[in-house]
Amino acid sequence: MLVSQSEAEGAGVREREQVRRVVVVGGSIAGLLAAAALASPGRSVTVLERDALPVGPEPRPGVPQGRQPHVFLHRGLLAVEELLPGVDADLRAAGAVPLDTGYIAWLGESGWAPRGPQYEILSLTRPLFEHVVRDHVCRLAGVELRDGTAVTGLRRGSSTGPRWWVDTAGDPVPADLVIDASGRSSRLPPWLVALGVGPARTTRVDARVGYATARVAVPPGTVTVDGIELLQTPDRSGGSALPVEGDTWLVTAVGAGARRPGRDRASFVGTLASLPDPSLHDLAARAEAEVVIHRQTGNQRHHYDRVRGWPDGLLVVGDALCAFNPVYGQGVTVAALEALALRDAARGPLRTRRLLRRFGRVVDLPWRIATSEDLRYPTAGGRVPRASALFSAWTRELGRMGAHGDQLAQLSIARVYHVMASPWLLLHPALVARSVRARLRGYGDPTPRPQVFADERGP
Ligand SMILES: Cc1cc2nc3c(=O)[nH]c(=O)nc-3n(C[C@H](O)[C@H](O)[C@H](O)COP(=O)(O)OP(=O)(O)OC[C@H]3O[C@@H](n4cnc5c(N)ncnc54)[C@H](O)[C@@H]3O)c2cc1C
Repeated sequence: MLVSQSEAEGAGVREREQVRRVVVVGGSIAGLLAAAALASPGRSVTVLERDALPVGPEPRPGVPQGRQPHVFLHRGLLAVEELLPGVDADLRAAGAVPLDTGYIAWLGESGWAPRGPQYEILSLTRPLFEHVVRDHVCRLAGVELRDGTAVTGLRRGSSTGPRWWVDTAGDPVPADLVIDASGRSSRLPPWLVALGVGPARTTRVDARVGYATARVAVPPGTVTVDGIELLQTPDRSGGSALPVEGDTWLVTAVGAGARRPGRDRASFVGTLASLPDPSLHDLAARAEAEVVIHRQTGNQRHHYDRVRGWPDGLLVVGDALCAFNPVYGQGVTVAALEALALRDAARGPLRTRRLLRRFGRVVDLPWRIATSEDLRYPTAGGRVPRASALFSAWTRELGRMGAHGDQLAQLSIARVYHVMASPWLLLHPALVARSVRARLRGYGDPTPRPQVFADERGP
């Protein structure tokens, strides 16, 4: 049968759009969820991970943040469950602690948040989360996880062979689609330069925030709230305490610039003692000796979606695309939402540029939330764009209303923060009307401090 040149080219393009061999660089959360999104009959998904992976839920070098607390936004947990049905039940069975974000003792910039039901989330250590997700992904047909395999570069293939060769210390791995999920320190920028692509513009906002965390054994019933959050602000340090598996709480001190807590116990306890409420300091008195710190927390966004001549068959997800200041707890949720977008896109011909733009839309709101807050810190050393300043000021106004008992304002912030509603919700006429009323007639009584410990006398 005779085939015209355009038909042949069309068939060639369609053939190339069929993604049969996927290589994912990095086997942490974003890489695992991307693999889950693409696992399907007739397709191989190979995840290449530099670390030798532990058998159980243990911290590992490639994820140094693994010893720090991880909270998962409600939308993120829903997305992970959608990608990997059964993860939620397995996490609970392994000891993850369900809690309601509306019953965390939450001290914001304007005072204590009112108590009331919000969203259920699970609280657990990062290694346990990764372990359960990895276990599910490795059971998917066609998925292979090769640990101890560092990727060293990318090469284009030929028009007749595979589109890509992914270089490792061993044999190169062929791929129709390569997904970079190698995290904040991704080597993709220099690899692209070697390919003659880019460079991509990168935006960075770094408020120089540091974490210090200790594990505390807390017998059940000692603490009467679901968690404790003393929010960090431009003027003061902050901290949190969250229950994780095994009757243990992770107690964390957070500070920016010169206020970053140090590794030694005195600095950790000293930061907690400086906070406007004694609860975290009281918990830390029970802490084990080891304090672990983490200081690589700047927001960093690569604008790959704007690079001219972006190569087909190359995607970037997770922290490799956009890493956030982790105090806002957004990274896993963004990776999960990108994976859902990837899954949907892969049902038809995969257009990588279009998909990168879609990832950009996933990133936009969390990026706005994180950077508009961080730019308020003198340590960020940047100018707050007008739109971000307005967004941040209005969110603080809603927080102030919440701290004076306005449940609608508090719940609206939570819905947007947990990516359960569009940010436009915050401009609902009912909220604007309440703000005007509060300004004219007063904000009402401040929300009282909740009782935190069972053996504490009431306020
Ligand atoms: C202190 C801290 C606290 C955090 N808390 C939260 C939180 O509360 N909630 C939340 O949602 N998120 C939190 N995050 C962010 C979250 O950890 C990440 O967003 C999430 O892990 C997704 O990251 P990732 O998979 O893209 O990259 P990473 O988790 O950084 O993993 C990258 C992986 O790639 C591997 N790798 C790197 N280079 C190569 C290579 N050349 N070849 C092969 N493999 C390679 C690494 O070994 C690693 O396994 C926190 C981060 C930090 C730093």
